[in-house]
Amino acid sequence: MIELPEAIAFSKQINETLVGKKIRKALKGQNPHKFAFPMEGSNQLGGEYSNEDFDRILKEKTITKSWSNGNIILVQMDTNYLLSLGCGGEKIIYHKTEETIPKKHQLLLAFRDGTFFSATISGWGEVRLFKAEDLDKHPHIDYSKYDPLSEEFTFVTFEKLIEDIPDNRKRNAKRFFISEPGLRGIGNGVIQDIFFLAKIHPRREMSSLTKDERKLLYETTKVELQKMTELGGRDGEKDLFDNWGGYKRKMHSKVVDEPCIVCKTPIVKEQFGGGSIYFCPSCQKVD
Ligand SMILES: [Zn+2]
Repeated sequence: MIELPEAIAFSKQINETLVGKKIRKALKGQNPHKFAFPMEGSNQLGGEYSNEDFDRILKEKTITKSWSNGNIILVQMDTNYLLSLGCGGEKIIYHKTEETIPKKHQLLLAFRDGTFFSATISGWGEVRLFKAEDLDKHPHIDYSKYDPLSEEFTFVTFEKLIEDIPDNRKRNAKRFFISEPGLRGIGNGVIQDIFFLAKIHPRREMSSLTKDERKLLYETTKVELQKMTELGGRDGEKDLFDNWGGYKRKMHSKVVDEPCIVCKTPIVKEQFGGGSIYFCPSCQKVD
């Protein structure tokens, strides 16, 4: 799944590779996908544009820049429209020749210089066109959440979010990071290594964290997300050139039952909070 580091990395690669390319043809919906956002004809932002509208609007336009917000990748053309991609398990690939274009895709841009760009959704994902002025209405950019790499996300802010948890509510670490209150662009992927390195169990109640634990968790979040970004995303995610990201994950499906790199205790996998969690039962205590 594309999360914050991958979205930033994609935008950087799009800026370096696709800016200046003129679109000859835009083919959308060649393989209709149930969870391609927005659903065509829906009243969601951009739902009014048909597959034909994509070609009509994007044809002869030049890509001018890309940036990201959370796990959403935004692409601007020399027109008053933005394209948004990402959010889910999308494969977003640049093709120097047509041989590498996948058989199934939800968006294919053919450029005037003979190169291509494709987006193929697995699970769910965005292929959305909308007016630039409506960016603040994007349903998958949660402006109420802090971007953990932003300057506003200070340790004071982080502590405040913990202190704001109502006394009568439980709020485990996983839920706190992903949804309540959640951090922008953070999902069930990046938190596995962050929690392991900060020695926090995903089930741990956030309000029970000591000052030192809060500090370590905050700093680990910033440092690891920065590393993931600089290394072009995690090694379980592909980049614009169909290469794996350079950040080597420590906690993932292949290390289950393998010894913890710190204490040699076998790593455990459990289902929790809608998805798998991986943890060292010795380094990451629940209580
Ligand atoms: Zn351990």
